[in-house]
Amino acid sequence: MKILYMGTAAAEGWPGLFCSCPVCTHARTNGGKNLRTRTQALLDDSLLLDFPPDTYCHALRYSLELAKIHTLLVSHSHMDHWFPTDLIHRHEHFGHGAEGVLDVYGNQAVKDSFDSHILIDRFKPHPIDDVVHFHVTHGGDRFQSSDWDITAVPADHDKREECLVYICKKDGKTVFYGHDTGVAFSKEAWEMITAEQYDLISLDATMGTKSIGGYHMGLSDVEAVLAQLSALGCVNEHTVKVINHFSHNGDMTHDQLTAWGAERGILAAYDGMEVKF
Ligand SMILES: [Zn+2]
Ligand SMILES: [Zn+2]
Ligand SMILES: [Zn+2]
Repeated sequence: MKILYMGTAAAEGWPGLFCSCPVCTHARTNGGKNLRTRTQALLDDSLLLDFPPDTYCHALRYSLELAKIHTLLVSHSHMDHWFPTDLIHRHEHFGHGAEGVLDVYGNQAVKDSFDSHILIDRFKPHPIDDVVHFHVTHGGDRFQSSDWDITAVPADHDKREECLVYICKKDGKTVFYGHDTGVAFSKEAWEMITAEQYDLISLDATMGTKSIGGYHMGLSDVEAVLAQLSALGCVNEHTVKVINHFSHNGDMTHDQLTAWGAERGILAAYDGMEVKF
């Protein structure tokens, strides 16, 4: 199995769209892996994780044929994970020959946002009901989509909606994709997370040097979660461990994140990083 990290930044991007802080200035000056678009990943060429405004840019950069992808998991409605308007382009008028249906899974806020952006007068000539199916998803839901066995897990994030992280299984491999979330998982969520053994675990590291107790993780939170999961046998030396979803407000450059990870056997994701496992 493989995962392609296409975007690895929090909402404002890295460098931040309007930001002149030292980390963003360093990123603009140095380029390369210091430049991060908003969070999106692709598992095994067939499972799309989140749909940010940078999806179009990712499709160009990674030569994606999005029409051939049939499952999209959306974590929550924040704009760095969900830019629904671009889904109108799966209509035959804009996307000739798009095969079958794209099944989209997300919470009620994601669905409401989808409706308010797609079900508008301007798009009435191009209904996408036949090519995009939305499935309102709750924490604890388990479902099959294409070849994937998926569990939606409640995240510790924006309490105004039911934010989700996902456990994805296929071909005997198990992946935990945990963005966006803090460490304060509910008992129900922790039971779901600790019921598995992971081949790859991808954890939120938005806050870098800081720890804010919930909503997002910093590096010390990541270490604590991995230690707990290791003690329970959910991760081991064979598990690929990744930190992702970075913010300049974490006060670390890409090189610093990479060095921190290298000392602990953890990969710091960057745009374009592909991992086979
Ligand atoms: Zn985010
Ligand atoms: Zn900045
Ligand atoms: Zn968020």
